[in-house]
Amino acid sequence: MSERAQVLVMYTGGTIGMQRTERGYAPAPGLLGRQLTRMPMFQDPALPRGTMPLSKFGRHVSWRLKEYSPLLDSSNMDMSDWVRLAEEVERFYDAYDAFVILHGTDTMAYSASALSFMLRNLGKPVVMTGSQIPLVETRNDALDNLLGALTIAGHFHIPEVTLYFHHKLMRGNRTRKMDASGLDAFQSTNLPPLAEVGTGIDVAWHRVRRMPRAPLIVRPITERNVASLRIFPGITAEIMQNFLQPPLRGVVLETYGSGNVPDIRPDFLDALRRATDAGIVVVNCTQCPMGAVSPDYVGGKALADAGVVGGADMTPEAALTKLSYLLSRSELSTDEVRRWMTTDLRGEMTPPAAEPRFDFADSRFVRSVASALAPGESQLEARWQVNQALLPVVLCAAAGHGDLATVQALLDEGAAPDAADYDGRTPLHVAAARGQLEMCRFLIGQGADLTARDRWGHLALDDARRGGFAAVATMLAGAGQVSEADDRMEPVSARPFEKK
Ligand code: ASP
Repeated sequence: MSERAQVLVMYTGGTIGMQRTERGYAPAPGLLGRQLTRMPMFQDPALPRGTMPLSKFGRHVSWRLKEYSPLLDSSNMDMSDWVRLAEEVERFYDAYDAFVILHGTDTMAYSASALSFMLRNLGKPVVMTGSQIPLVETRNDALDNLLGALTIAGHFHIPEVTLYFHHKLMRGNRTRKMDASGLDAFQSTNLPPLAEVGTGIDVAWHRVRRMPRAPLIVRPITERNVASLRIFPGITAEIMQNFLQPPLRGVVLETYGSGNVPDIRPDFLDALRRATDAGIVVVNCTQCPMGAVSPDYVGGKALADAGVVGGADMTPEAALTKLSYLLSRSELSTDEVRRWMTTDLRGEMTPPAAEPRFDFADSRFVRSVASALAPGESQLEARWQVNQALLPVVLCAAAGHGDLATVQALLDEGAAPDAADYDGRTPLHVAAARGQLEMCRFLIGQGADLTARDRWGHLALDDARRGGFAAVATMLAGAGQVSEADDRMEPVSARPFEKK
C-alpha cells in the first residue's frame, strides 16, 4: 500500500462551491480549486499541488479536482448526468484509489442511488458529498463535509457508493435528504451509518459490503419512463388511470404506513390491476421516512393481488432509480424486473425474510422479560431466562471492548464462549472485527469455535481482514481458521491503509 492515496474529486456543482452574487448563490467555475489549494488542510505547502498534510494514519491524500462544465444546481441534473458520472468513474478507475463526488444536495440521494446500481462490482470507494452553506462563507459545513469525505475516501477501503454528510458516512442508496436547511440534512433511517466521525473515525465494518470478485461493469440507466405516485386520501380512480398510461413502464407507489392502500375501493385496485396487466411494473414503498412495507395487512395483500410488488424498506429514491436501471436492461422480461425489484442488489433493501422481527412467539428476550414480570414465575427461573437471553449480547460487547475481566466473569456465570447474538455473531467475531488481539487469543484458549459463521456467513477471520487487523488475521489463520472468502477479501491492509 502506497503512502499516498490518489483521489479524484469530481465536482459537478451545488452549493458547496458557489459564491454570492447579486441574484443569490451561483456556481463559480474555477473558484473551488483555487480555494482548496489555499487551505492548509487540503494543501501541504511543501508538497506538490493537491497534496494534503500527513494524516494520523501516516498517509498523504493527493487529490485532483475535475470540474464539470457547466457546474449544475443538482435540481437541473437528470439521468444523462448520472450516466456521465458512472462512465467517468469507469474511465479513471485504474488511475485512482478512490473517488469523491461533489454534488448539490437536492438530488444527491437520487444520484447516489443511481450510481450504486450502475457501478456493478464496485471495488473502490465512491464518496458523495455537498453542503448547505458554500465553502466561501466563514461559517459553513462545506469544510467538514469535504474534509471528512476526502479523509474517508483516502484511508478506508469501503467499496461502495456512499454519502458523507455531517459526520456520518451512509450507504448512498439508503439516504434521503430530510432537512431543507439544517446541516444534518441527510439520513439513512433504515440502515445505521457505515462510519461515524468524532474524535476518531469509527467504521462499522460488519455493515460494509464485501469486495466484489469480478471486475467493475458499468451499466447505464437509460429508461426515463418511470415515475412516483404518492397516494393520498380521496385520490380518484380517474387520476390513477390517467397517470398509469403509456409510455409509463414503472411506478413507485408511495403508500401509507406499512404499505397500505384503500382496500375497500375496487376502482383504485382495478386501476392498478389494469396497469400491471399492461406490463407496468408497480412497486410498493412506504411514505413513512422509516420502516418497511409489509405483506401482513389486508391492503398490502390487495396490492399483491393486483400485481404490485413489495419494495421492503427501500427509499423511494432507491426504488425509482432501481426500477429505471432494471427497465433499461432490454434482456430482462417484465417478470424478471419484478423479481429483481424484490431482490437486494446493492444493499439498498433488507430482504423481507432477513428482517429482524420481534414477536412474543419467537423472541426469547421478550418472553424472558415477560415472564420476569409475570406473577407466579419463580424469581430464579426468570433470572435464569433473562441471563440466557442477555448474556451472549453482553459477552459480545465486552469482547469487542477487549474487557477481559468482564468476559471472564461472564464465562464464570455460565456463558458459553461461543454464545452468539441475534446476528449469529460470537464474541470471537466481535473481538476480531475490533482488532482485539489479546481477547481473540483468550477466547480461543477458552475453546471458542473457530468455524462459527454469522448470519452473513462470515468467519471471525473475515472480520479481522475486513478491518485491516493484520496481526489478528494472521493469528486466526494460524489457529486454523480458513476463510472460504479468501479469494474475495481485501488484502489484510484494508483499514486504515497501512504502510508497508
Ligand atoms: N440547490 C442546490 C443543489 O442541489 C442545493 C445544494 O447544493 O445544497 O444543487
